[in-house]
Amino acid sequence: MQEQLTQKVALALDKRDSLKKFRKQFYIPKMKGKEVVYFTGNSLGLQPLSTQKFIQQELKDWATLGVEAHLHAKRPWLYYHHFSKKSLAKLVGAKPAEVVAMNQLTVNLHLMLTTFYRPTATRYKIIAEAGAFSSDQYAFESQLNLHGLNPETSLIELKPREGEDVLRTSDIVAAIKEQGDALALVMIGAVQYYTGQLFDIKKITQAAHEVGAYAGFDCAHAIGNVPLQLHKHNVDFAVWCSYKYLNSGAGGVAGVFVHEKHHNSNLPRMAGWWGHHEKERFQMKKGFVPMPGADGWQLSNFPVLQGAAHLASLQIFDEAGIQNLRKKSEQLTGYLYEGLKALPGYGKTFKILTPQNPKERGCQLSIYMVEKGKEVFTKLSKAGIVADWREPGVIRVAPVPLYNTFTDVFIFIQQFSKALK
Ligand SMILES: *Cc1c(COP(=O)(O)O)cnc(C)c1O
Repeated sequence: MQEQLTQKVALALDKRDSLKKFRKQFYIPKMKGKEVVYFTGNSLGLQPLSTQKFIQQELKDWATLGVEAHLHAKRPWLYYHHFSKKSLAKLVGAKPAEVVAMNQLTVNLHLMLTTFYRPTATRYKIIAEAGAFSSDQYAFESQLNLHGLNPETSLIELKPREGEDVLRTSDIVAAIKEQGDALALVMIGAVQYYTGQLFDIKKITQAAHEVGAYAGFDCAHAIGNVPLQLHKHNVDFAVWCSYKYLNSGAGGVAGVFVHEKHHNSNLPRMAGWWGHHEKERFQMKKGFVPMPGADGWQLSNFPVLQGAAHLASLQIFDEAGIQNLRKKSEQLTGYLYEGLKALPGYGKTFKILTPQNPKERGCQLSIYMVEKGKEVFTKLSKAGIVADWREPGVIRVAPVPLYNTFTDVFIFIQQFSKALK
């Protein structure tokens, strides 16, 4: 192994890490009494120590106040969706009115598609990346069916060029231009879940708007991983979940971004009482009057227990700062990239699908196993490495800057190298 990849170097980098205190704020799972190397924060983020306290507060307010907790809890339940706004806005680069925590990701995707996918006889196509997350594919398919359209001809799935692993921005832009007036919507995973590619949100959005289409992004793998500028980049809408990099627990409350330029538009939407104007929500009157901003897309009353877990984690993000996290993340994942490239099996037994350029990736690297994939993965698991396996042959590893260390990366490279032999 190269000099820079020794344990001593990893320890020195950990010592210098200005964010090192945050690891102590999370429960790190153990195997045979030893902390695992947890590289699956892209799938389920770890639990902050503070989560229990946040949830306990709601349980206590429920126990002691009952229904009165809607108004008199420490964090009044009636306004719970307000409490995460500022933090979410910072993470996605939005104004607080443009974001709201609600529902689950796929539900939100359907809500946003209802508003932003309005096909006409001539403008009806959707562009997505090939191999999008299954749930997104099902959402596209069912939305097209809902409008009586055929997914075979109406959904354009962009594949990387022959012999390449990720999409070129220029090819995405060219495909958008090619569809032109027939294109209704471009909907891309901001960070692709399988390859780890971070797309050029600004350029894609611009290209979509130039042909008169909307641009939406699934930020499931982007939020809390890379800084986003959804408002500035003029993105029409975005959705995300909170149990991955946002550490808010399985099934945690998801979120949406709706650009302010659409807040007073006449676009149709699915409506529910929680999206109705707060001032008269309880008048139970006929005739939907939406809340201003993204809030007007809410349907149901807020999941307070999940929301409490969400707030616990967002507080940590506020303290650490997404720009600081990104800086460490680029270094940490860069260190992993270098370590993997230095192994004798690189390019032969395995390759890395994820771009090396930090501008084109977040923290996840997707290692494509040409051979021995499952075998290597099993050995890693037995050695206390928690990574994940995605068919047909990818080991995804995501060193998360909030709680992973350079030593974690060092151990991973060591164990991966051993497993290859
Ligand atoms: C994780 C993920 C989902 C999961 O959707 P849920 O509705 O939260 O279960 C959907 N899409 C993408 C791109 C994801 O990464």
